[in-house]
Amino acid sequence: MKDRYDVIVVGGGPGGARAAKHAAEKGASVLLLEKDREIGIPVRCAEGVSESGLRRVVEVKDRWIAQVIKGARLVSPDGTVVESYPDEVGFILHRKLFDYDLAVAASQAGTEVVTKAYVQGLTMDDGVVTGVRMTHMGRARRISGSVVIGADGVESRVGRWAGLETRTPFGEVETCVQMTLAGIDVDPEVVELHFGRQIAPGGYLWIFPKGRRTANVGLGISGVYSREKKPLIYLKEFVERRFPGASVLTMIAGGVPAVPTLKKIVTDGLMLVGDAARQVDPLTGGGIVNAMLAGRIAGRVAAEAVQEGDVSTRRLSAYTKEWSKVDGKNNKISYKIKKVVGRLSDEDLNRAARVLLDVPPEKRTALRVFKAVFLRHPKLIVEVSKLFV
Ligand code: FAD
Repeated sequence: MKDRYDVIVVGGGPGGARAAKHAAEKGASVLLLEKDREIGIPVRCAEGVSESGLRRVVEVKDRWIAQVIKGARLVSPDGTVVESYPDEVGFILHRKLFDYDLAVAASQAGTEVVTKAYVQGLTMDDGVVTGVRMTHMGRARRISGSVVIGADGVESRVGRWAGLETRTPFGEVETCVQMTLAGIDVDPEVVELHFGRQIAPGGYLWIFPKGRRTANVGLGISGVYSREKKPLIYLKEFVERRFPGASVLTMIAGGVPAVPTLKKIVTDGLMLVGDAARQVDPLTGGGIVNAMLAGRIAGRVAAEAVQEGDVSTRRLSAYTKEWSKVDGKNNKISYKIKKVVGRLSDEDLNRAARVLLDVPPEKRTALRVFKAVFLRHPKLIVEVSKLFV
């Protein structure tokens, strides 16, 4: 490790790895710091992505695909099952391999990737971020960087250290738990999503098949409800009912910031990317593709800014603007929809499921589902219009 780089990226997840790759490809000297011992581990993710989304950000490798998904089964609180087989294919990834390969790609572009490198703070000069304080293999170091990119995930502290407002209200963080189960009966090509106050209040439960007789089974519930009953209890109750005798291969917990992107994601000498910037889709909780999209833009803008010798908030805001154009709008709309969905009662959801049963399965695309649920249901139209006006 040298004492100085053009760009220092904190966090070796998909957002950080892409930011590092694109900055290095633009000619910047780049250091990527990951606190864990190995890139890609632990996996705190259900590993689902849409094929089109993934192809938008990377050339897909076969070894990443644990399972190709061709349909979805939505289960309402009263057990009404709505099957949907849109044209869109999905993938369940092996994120361990995926994250690892993204870091390899960053390294091949010229990034120096260092694991077991724990960033503890920033160095600043007159309000401008000038580098990081970190420990590596027990040794404390200060490394200078013209731009620091905070891609340190949902528990990000980098932005806060630089004075950005990164707090997410407790009720807006989805508290998630997940088990990878083996020896279970699931349709390998179909994901299941279960809704209802008794199953996952303010969120949903997912079954994402991961190869034969194996699946990621997890749920996210709104922070408001997780105080009353722990998400793990909801999950255990479901698993005991649906998959008695299953082997539990892994168990993880994590948060998803189900909010729109932070208002300010850059400051002098600093940018935030991915979960750290709250770029997750607030409705689905999916954040892999968004983190990579944002990382690509941030890496490029950072390298250009360094080359021009201007790392001011104004210059780095080119990233904020481009992100708003690329995905910021979807992110805001998803948040609004999430707020409406969060207010639906179990009875509303049951009714919506029955409406959807009238639409032929091959036509139950996301748009149709939206229309069927929101436009044929007078109470929901009022709710939706309140949010959009
Ligand atoms: P991360 O992948 O979280 O990477 C951040 C990295 O920064 C980590 O490796 C961390 O170790 C490192 N780090 C943190 N602090 C420091 C520090 N101080 N010093 C050095 N390194 C540091 N998204 C989907 O698209 N599909 C899904 O199916 C899906 N399921 C999910 C299920 C669960 C239970 C959870 C919790 C999330 C899920 N997500 C899903 C969201 C997805 O995992 C994230 O949006 C995505 O990982 C964000 O990428 P990132 O690079 O921003 O952050």
